[in-house]
Amino acid sequence: MTDGRDDRHPDIPEDMPEIETILLNWYRRNARDLPWRQTRDPYRILVSEVMLQQTQVDRVIPKYHAFLDAFPSSEALAAASTADVIRLWSGLGYNRRAVNLQRAARAVAVEHGGAFPRDVSSLKKLPGIGPYTAGAIACFAFEQDVGFLDTNIRRLLHRLLIGPEVPEEQRSQREMQALASSIVPYGHGWEWGQTLIEFGALQCTARKPACLTCPLQHHCCAFPEIQTVLADLARNGFRRKKEAAFEGSNRFYRGRVLRVLQEDGHSTGIELEHLGHRVRDDYAPEHQGWLESLVEGLASDGLVQIQEDRPSYDSSPKVRLPGSSSEG
Ligand code: SF4
Repeated sequence: MTDGRDDRHPDIPEDMPEIETILLNWYRRNARDLPWRQTRDPYRILVSEVMLQQTQVDRVIPKYHAFLDAFPSSEALAAASTADVIRLWSGLGYNRRAVNLQRAARAVAVEHGGAFPRDVSSLKKLPGIGPYTAGAIACFAFEQDVGFLDTNIRRLLHRLLIGPEVPEEQRSQREMQALASSIVPYGHGWEWGQTLIEFGALQCTARKPACLTCPLQHHCCAFPEIQTVLADLARNGFRRKKEAAFEGSNRFYRGRVLRVLQEDGHSTGIELEHLGHRVRDDYAPEHQGWLESLVEGLASDGLVQIQEDRPSYDSSPKVRLPGSSSEG
C-alpha cells in the first residue's frame, strides 16, 4: 500500500481527474450523516468498521452508540469482561468480531501504551485487523492518503476502471490494491475513502447499480453491459442460495447457544445436556455429538468456555460465557 497518487498505473484512464471531480462532488451532495464520520478517534473508527463488517448501517447505528456508552475508550474495552462485551454485541451477529475487537484494544493497551499505532503495517499487526480495517483506520482516523479495498470498493473500482467482474477480465486482489493505492487524490484521502464507500453503498450497488442515474455513466468501463452480466448472474444464482442457507443454519444455532448463556447471566454455566434442550425443542441424545462440536467451535473462537473438571465422569460438562463466575 503506497501513499499518494501514482499516475503511471496502467489501469488509470486519461479522464481520471474528471472522474475524481464527479465522485467527490457526488459525495458532497449525497453523503449520509453517519456518526463515525464526525470523529477522528481511532478507537471509535475501529468499532464502527468492525460493526459494519456484514451488518447494515441502520442496524449498526444504535449498537454503535450503546457500545461506546458502555466502553467509551479502548482502555475501558480492554478492562471489561469478555462476557459483557459479547452481551453488548448481542443482535449484531458474528460474535467473534466482538472478541477480536477486545483483543485489539488489549494489544493497544499492552503493546502501544494505550495509543493506537498510526501506520498501516503496525495496525495490521493488531489482532483481528486485516488490510482493509488497517487502511480504513489510517485514512479515517489519521487522514492519511492510503488506498484500501473492501468488497464494495473493489467492485466499484473494477467496474469503473476495468469492466464488469467477469472471470475473463477479473483482476487479482494484489492488482486491485495497487490500483486503489494509485488513485488516492493527494491531500484528500479521508474524503476519497468515504466517497468510494458511499458510492458503492448507494449508487453502484452489487445487484442493482443505478446506472441510468449515474453521473459516471460516460466514463464507466462496465456500462452498459453490466446490466446483462448481472441478469445472467441472477439466473444462475439458485445453487449459491442453497449453500448460503446451509451455512446459515450453523450460524443460527451458534447464536442460540450464546443467547441462552447470556440469558443465564453470570452463573457457573449450563450442563451440555440442559443447554441442548434450551437450544432446540427437538433435542435428543443423538444430537449430543452435534452440540459438542458446535460448542467446541464456539470455545475455539473464544466465545464460550467448557468446564473440564467435572464432578464425575458421567456428568455432563458445563458451558459458560468467558469471564462468568467459575465457582460453584
Ligand atoms: S455506470 Fe453503473 S456500473 Fe458504472 S459506476 Fe455507475 S452505477 Fe456503477
